[in-house]
Amino acid sequence: MRILQVCAEIFPLLKTGGLADVAGALPQALQALGAETRVLLPGFAPILAGLAAPREVAHLDPPGAMAQASVRLLHGRLAAVGVDAYVIDAPDYYQRDGGPYADTAQQPYADNHLRFALLGWVAAELAQGLDAAWQPDVVHAHAWHAGLAPAYLQAAATSRPQLPGCVFTVHNLAYQGMFARSAFDELGLPESFFSIHGVEFHGQLNFMKAGLYYADRLTTVSPSYAREIQGPEQGCGLDGLLRARSHELSGILNGVDAAVWNPATDPALAASFSAEDMAGKARCRSALRRELGLAAKADGPLFCVVSRLTEQKGLHLVLQALPELVAGGGQFALLGSGDAALEAAFRTAAAEQPDAIAVRLGYDETFAHRLIAGSDVILVPSLFEPCGLTQLYGLAYGTLPLVRRVGGLADTVADTRLETIDIDATGFVFDEFSLPALQQALARACALHRRPADWKRVRSRAMAQSFGWDRAARAYLGLYRELAPLA
Ligand code: ADP
Repeated sequence: MRILQVCAEIFPLLKTGGLADVAGALPQALQALGAETRVLLPGFAPILAGLAAPREVAHLDPPGAMAQASVRLLHGRLAAVGVDAYVIDAPDYYQRDGGPYADTAQQPYADNHLRFALLGWVAAELAQGLDAAWQPDVVHAHAWHAGLAPAYLQAAATSRPQLPGCVFTVHNLAYQGMFARSAFDELGLPESFFSIHGVEFHGQLNFMKAGLYYADRLTTVSPSYAREIQGPEQGCGLDGLLRARSHELSGILNGVDAAVWNPATDPALAASFSAEDMAGKARCRSALRRELGLAAKADGPLFCVVSRLTEQKGLHLVLQALPELVAGGGQFALLGSGDAALEAAFRTAAAEQPDAIAVRLGYDETFAHRLIAGSDVILVPSLFEPCGLTQLYGLAYGTLPLVRRVGGLADTVADTRLETIDIDATGFVFDEFSLPALQQALARACALHRRPADWKRVRSRAMAQSFGWDRAARAYLGLYRELAPLA
């Protein structure tokens, strides 16, 4: 079985969030199960730089306004990921100052509809046999960036019915890729596709909706989120379509790449540790306190956050909870970047209490490992959370997750209460998205921390949880087989 994964970022070459972690881990997990997997990516500088032995597959003539760009398709090996890749070399679109989606001033590029329509169009071309040496049996498109892949495939299917099936995965329904109606006219899709039964959403072009409408199977990254997005509260206006397609929608929980996130082998840590020998974790904590200038002698737990700073993540609640957390003897360290007001507020909090609060703004992969390893509790109080990865890293590193009961957080963390402590407790879970509810959960974390034997029991169970990619890859393979039973 040949699978083409289509996505905009991939760990460790280019990452803005959990999507890259998924894109970087799933191909290998599928390959381990015998599914031949290649990825298709835009030719951003770090991706081109990571492509070994590139050969030119074709010069491309994309439709619509994309015809103006010079576009080549390359094939090579992404050694850092361990996967074969097709990379779209279109310097006008992908070689720019700034990030993959927005410029240095964080403004989305004005031609994002063309930049990512090209990704979907090339996916559909590969599905039709563009590379005579390798034609996929299934196309798997990830997030809104790849949302037009199933639309272009559907457009091609009117003349060629025997085309590969398509799976579309929602990584975060809040990011939909919406553009003015005029953008649609530049894409070369059939006029009839701009319809409520197609890519139109309230008069606009919507890439996410294209994926949800035209793909053969829909998935998202946790069972709870799959349910939640079918309701008006979290459906972002697309819940009606998702309800209509509920029989083709499933939730497949993301995994943890144990080659990257394993405290026994992690080269970023001051000391390694495992559930059998936790001495290294204490050394990691001391080293982290030193590195951050936090008071070395502290009785309470060290809480951490590793996150994009956005409304979604509930961090304004954490800010409000900091005074009580510190008054109770706790310490707090954050690594994050994003919203300017949140960045400034956390910076101020750290400046006021440098012994107890440390804040590092920016993106730092290795520090994220040290921070999670050295902390006692990782906070993920999200308003919504499709899957969430940092709570899984917390479990693996014996850093108990404190999470809101929503999306993938609800599916992966079990609350610690008297009646669960000997059964399934792995962290702290609260329900209402409010300061008092968060504070109660923090108080419970502190109370457990004062009972070292109980703390260790919960921590051992947390570390024994298994969220490998193998399980997710098997579930995806099951879907692919439905679409390509003979492959
Ligand atoms: P999302 O995709 O919504 O950002 P996830 O929890 O699914 O949230 O994935 C976030 C990923 O990005 C994790 O691998 C996390 O460790 C990483 N991450 C987030 N912020 C930072 C940062 N400032 N520095 C390093 N890694 C970060």
